[in-house]
Amino acid sequence: IFSGKPNMTLPSTNSAAARDAAFVFHPHSNLKAQAETPPIIMTGGSGVYIRDDQGNSYLESAASLGQCSLGFSNERLAKAAYEAISTLGSIHSFRNISNPYLIDLSEKLLSIAPTPMARVMFQSSGSEANDTAVKLTWYYWAAMGKPQKRKIISRDGSYHGNTIITTALNGNPATHLGCGFNFPELLKTDVTNYYRHGKPGETEEQFSQRLVDSLEDLILREDPETIGAFLADITQANSGGLLPPAGYWEKIQALLKKYDILLIADEVVTGFGRTGQRWACEVYGVTPDMVSTAKALAAGFQPISALMLNERVWNVVRDESAKYGGFWHGYTWAGHPVACAVALETIKLYEDEDILGHIQEIAPFFQEQVAALADHPLVGNYQGIGLIGGIDLTDDREKRTVFGPESQLGARLTKAGIRNGLFMRLMGNARIHFSPPFIIEKDDIVEMVTRARRAMDEVNAELRADA
Ligand code: PMP
Repeated sequence: IFSGKPNMTLPSTNSAAARDAAFVFHPHSNLKAQAETPPIIMTGGSGVYIRDDQGNSYLESAASLGQCSLGFSNERLAKAAYEAISTLGSIHSFRNISNPYLIDLSEKLLSIAPTPMARVMFQSSGSEANDTAVKLTWYYWAAMGKPQKRKIISRDGSYHGNTIITTALNGNPATHLGCGFNFPELLKTDVTNYYRHGKPGETEEQFSQRLVDSLEDLILREDPETIGAFLADITQANSGGLLPPAGYWEKIQALLKKYDILLIADEVVTGFGRTGQRWACEVYGVTPDMVSTAKALAAGFQPISALMLNERVWNVVRDESAKYGGFWHGYTWAGHPVACAVALETIKLYEDEDILGHIQEIAPFFQEQVAALADHPLVGNYQGIGLIGGIDLTDDREKRTVFGPESQLGARLTKAGIRNGLFMRLMGNARIHFSPPFIIEKDDIVEMVTRARRAMDEVNAELRADA
């Protein structure tokens, strides 16, 4: 395959693994270890199973990164992509250029938005949608005559993307390493982890109140007149699908209202049914000013994200843009006809096949089965909703502590899962996050939990042998 350009370092063999090691820069990867760790090369999949080029099959308990809501292949969506490329494969949507797929998708999305939304802008990733939300926050407050209201608060343990601003918003410090991040306008408040951070005897409600008080302290310390928005996913996806403690969102929203702070809901992971409702905002009664969504929007088959904004933000942004002769923001791929066609067909498929109904029907069984892993010696706690299952791992059930880095627990569990034909999403050593494709069936769930338990047993035995 390789052309052997004279200045290229060629791999020692022509195997796919050697060529991967020689040419591919993998995101979120240990680059040094890559050469010694052969890649798993995925070649296809159907339903909740994916297979590699060695003929191994794996149950994907995290739907890849949560985006593969319908599994790994789909004829109907393939046809939608084919038809769009055969008709209008690409066109931009700047300066009033439009296309039927973009218009239809926008109408459809606004008609099913969690709360009334005025407009939607498309991008290609969750990162770009959140990045756009930050820019709009700055634009909005400047237009309102409060240009100093620029600070954005996000939460520890969060992940909102990998553009420069969204990286800086991440409360996951790993994504900052090595780049010297320092953005004084981007502030952090507490992670919503009741199991780890709740005090002895503290109820969930009291814990929520403590987090809200801490947020209020931060706002007052910084000066409310400088705080533009609070950006949060409704369930904290990248802390392993953490659910908000009781009363959290009600209290948070009251606080944001008090200080006139915009709320940006990151539904990148939760949109389209993950929690058992179409939007996590619906589950927790959240009324945001802007909503970002991405992963399941086109079932993961096209890179597309959406940012919806309500009337309050839209009206101001629209009027302000006249001052500059336009709102000069957007990507070549915004409103891409193929991505929009596939997203539109995905939403239609969700409705035609009542995928939300399926999630609601299967969720109690999923919850019961995954919760049963809580008796495992590595586990301290279980928490879940819809098709989100979060297992807190601990080396001490009393103290609820996380296994130390030397244990390599997360890496070991990932490997043991793979040995047992299961992709499991580990959040470091702290948590296993189950978020399978929406189409998962009962027998898949039983298989998933059986394989997970086997992997956990193996790792537990390894750790005891090491001790
Ligand atoms: N927000 C959340 C909650 C996410 O989980 C992710 C990605 N995992 C993002 C934003 C960023 O999305 P993307 O990777 O598509 O840029």
